[in-house]
Amino acid sequence: MIATQGLPRTESLPVEETPASILPDHLSWSQVSLMRACPQKFYFSYIARPPKDFIASSLKFGSAVHAGLESYFRARMEGLKIDDITLMDAYHTSWEYEEEPGTPIRFNKLEDVSTLENTARGMFAAFLQSPLANPQGEVIGIEESFCSPLASDLPEVMARVDLIYAAAGAIHLVDFKTSRSRWNQAKVAEAADQLRLYEILTSQVTGDTPVQLHFGVLTKAKTPAFDLLPVPPADSDVTVLEQITSTFRQVYQAMQAGNFYPAPSPQNCTTCPFKSRCPAWAGNSTSC
Ligand code: SF4
Repeated sequence: MIATQGLPRTESLPVEETPASILPDHLSWSQVSLMRACPQKFYFSYIARPPKDFIASSLKFGSAVHAGLESYFRARMEGLKIDDITLMDAYHTSWEYEEEPGTPIRFNKLEDVSTLENTARGMFAAFLQSPLANPQGEVIGIEESFCSPLASDLPEVMARVDLIYAAAGAIHLVDFKTSRSRWNQAKVAEAADQLRLYEILTSQVTGDTPVQLHFGVLTKAKTPAFDLLPVPPADSDVTVLEQITSTFRQVYQAMQAGNFYPAPSPQNCTTCPFKSRCPAWAGNSTSC
């Protein structure tokens, strides 16, 4: 039986087939992406759930910025006017919430609570000057969850869409990202399948109405920026569905097989909160 809590440090990997009862009861884009990047980290994050070494400030920051934007659009839906102070109130409330009390926050170099606050202020100012702050048309959903099967041999797949609005005869789906640098078209193309999956999962409610997909990217650069970047249509909707379903099926089969090997790399491990428990690091969490 695989332990589901309180793994000792450097716990060896489970090698037997994973009981269905401990696998997530639905799949999401972020779960599948994490399993593809490092199956061991997926195992820690979604199955064993041991205490984390730390919480990366970038994750807390991203959640707090999302909370600010969510409060902005909720107020708009209710016909209220909201300013940068209210956005920062939502930011602070989210920042102060401790999902895992007692776990230290790990800041990047030259960062602390106050520098991140200033960055958030600058990002919200850039957002408030963008056309998305006053979208033409009607906001119809904020942080909406959709669950739908991709195939009969897979659990349902869940999408959480940050913002949905109707304008100019189309329904627009927006996913907000916080990023260190501005996105270019190559980055949009690399990330596009996430929103294409969301388009598939929301099709029960969007029906025949054309759907347009966008990433709303808030950049943490010296001069914060906000860019609303459209995702170009795929060459073929059928191929996109087949490709995404095939990826989800392969990844789910690896989960069922208990194939949770570590995939160490600077990109994966530098901010990994499970390094002290990871067999690849044998308890040496100080270098990468
Ligand atoms: S430390 Fe690296 S290899 Fe180990 S679980 Fe984390 S990301 Fe994966």
